[in-house]
Amino acid sequence: MLEKDGFEKKEFDDTADVYVINTCSVTDNADKECRQLVRRIQRRAPESMVVITGCYAQLKPKEISEIPGVDLVLGAAEKFNIGSHIRELVKGDSAKISSCDIEEVSGFNASYSLNDRTRTFLKVQDGCDYTCSFCTIPMARGKSRSDSIENVLRHAHDLATSGVKEIVLTGVNLGDFGKGPDGNKKNEEDFFDLVKALDKVEGIDRYRISSIEPNLLTNDIIEFVANSDKFMPHFHIPLQSGSNKILGLMRRRYKRELYADRVGLIKQLMPHCAIGVDVIVGFPGETEEEFKETFDFLHSLDVSYLHVFTYSERANTQALQITPVVPVNVRNDRNKSLRNLSYMKMQYFTAQHAGENRKVLFEGHEKEGMMEGYTDNYIRITTPFRQEWANQVIDWKI
Ligand code: SF4
Repeated sequence: MLEKDGFEKKEFDDTADVYVINTCSVTDNADKECRQLVRRIQRRAPESMVVITGCYAQLKPKEISEIPGVDLVLGAAEKFNIGSHIRELVKGDSAKISSCDIEEVSGFNASYSLNDRTRTFLKVQDGCDYTCSFCTIPMARGKSRSDSIENVLRHAHDLATSGVKEIVLTGVNLGDFGKGPDGNKKNEEDFFDLVKALDKVEGIDRYRISSIEPNLLTNDIIEFVANSDKFMPHFHIPLQSGSNKILGLMRRRYKRELYADRVGLIKQLMPHCAIGVDVIVGFPGETEEEFKETFDFLHSLDVSYLHVFTYSERANTQALQITPVVPVNVRNDRNKSLRNLSYMKMQYFTAQHAGENRKVLFEGHEKEGMMEGYTDNYIRITTPFRQEWANQVIDWKI
């Protein structure tokens, strides 16, 4: 947006007139990291403007505005007007806050990354209407709203024209796609309709679905992906816990049996499919037995890798009321156990495919003489750089 508005992008280590820090509320240390970055900027370029935006800026605007050196804090809606805010900015003593209550945030702003033309992340949905008890995202991003299928198709065509080969569909609660910019479901579109429509776009070779709630990943979607040449055999499905009691305390909308059914159907139709799992350890009330239930459940499931998160307290969430709290050292031990399990799962999954021929999309950048790409089922391949393979899908023996 800023480049279109006449600004020029610099590397972070160059001196710039304006620094924009996009904060995250999922990161445990958002506050500390933000302070450190502002200090670094102040040392290097004391005359520069510092703008803070992103989820943490929406959640704690006042706290952030009090960090010495910050000039402007932009909330969830105002970040989309960043260009005009920056033009009006004067270096002064106190930071300006431009943000509103999250309930008032509406409208949908599409965006996609253009760092590497090989693969782009296309945002089709924002916000979330769920109430998971550990999560601050609905407070930072507002109600669930989406783009129209017509607009998404237009973006996909534009990306195909600019040479992009792979689109990763992203959203805060992607499977909830279909609610309009005001958060109401006024049309009949849903995520399955979007998948079917994108499958027909000429020029895009590959799609991935970034992360989808298990209760929203329908059999129709799984069956369609199994028969599609363009939707890759790769799902990322948050589980969070393998204990039904903990899932209830987390206010998740499924039980472990549903999760196992989804994984079973995927592997029955696509035995080669990669499945990634998000899991939280040390949630309040998680006993040793319940952690073991999660461990054993994941051990028994035919999944390929885990993203393990250690539970940490977040202001204004319902989970703060749940007891007993799990000691931090126990949380860390549980994290380590699941990381080991993830490593073994990944090794096993990769070894299962050794010797096979699969299609690899190679990326364009050279790093120490090497290049990287991913198979359809998300195995990372590294090989000596060859320019003619950059941004191409190559038949590859693993
Ligand atoms: S589905 Fe739950 S965890 Fe995911 S963004 Fe919504 S509230 Fe947060």
